[in-house]
Amino acid sequence: MTLADRLARVEERIGSAARAAGRDPAGIRLVVVTKFQPVPLLERLVDLGATELGESRHQEARQKAVELDGRGITWHFVGRLQSNKARQVARYASVLHSIDRSSLVDALDGIERPVDAFLQVDLDAAADAGCGAPSGGPGRGGAAPRDVVALAERMAASPGLNLVGVMGVAPRGEDPGAAFARLVSASERVASVEPAARAISAGMSADLERAVDAGATHLRVGTAIVGARPEASRDA
Ligand SMILES: *Cc1c(COP(=O)(O)O)cnc(C)c1O
Repeated sequence: MTLADRLARVEERIGSAARAAGRDPAGIRLVVVTKFQPVPLLERLVDLGATELGESRHQEARQKAVELDGRGITWHFVGRLQSNKARQVARYASVLHSIDRSSLVDALDGIERPVDAFLQVDLDAAADAGCGAPSGGPGRGGAAPRDVVALAERMAASPGLNLVGVMGVAPRGEDPGAAFARLVSASERVASVEPAARAISAGMSADLERAVDAGATHLRVGTAIVGARPEASRDA
């Protein structure tokens, strides 16, 4: 299958999942995650009309943003953010999906160009039970559910951040539907702080149907469209 075929196939999957859930597919945005993929592949995506691209490593993302300047791409940063790099990321990325601790918000206070920001929630069941790693601790990132309201208040008060909603990554080894239900519950708590912040960034190649069913507004899809990441990058 060509890149165009794989992109079309994912769009079909989104369309049928939306219909099955009684949702309008127009309310669902596809972010194509291009981490570890070379610039020419990103150019082909743009030619195919996919201009919302997601990256997860700052050095690589910045380099791609420089090389593809002027191509009309909206950059989404989906990876873990280091506080000392966050301001630099906010220069090229318009959407940050991984705000998971107040120290990151501190680091982003006073940025010149406001960015859209998702509050990332740790979807591990252990975190939900209150016995997971502390927020911003090791693992895939995400604020513990008990910290969500305080972090949402902090984000809503930040002049540089436009709090748009919540983001989550379904943990392996568990039904993604159960994890996404926890994300929806966090979404409701965020909306109680900031009524306009109703976006939900959830769903990857393997679980996008489940995410659409749960109400995701932003899907972050990599391998199903761009193919497997190069061997050397598998653990990153
Ligand atoms: C890599 C990545 C994705 C895309 O995952 P695929 O399984 O390749 O679709 C989505 N979200 C985040 C945070 C990622 O790091």
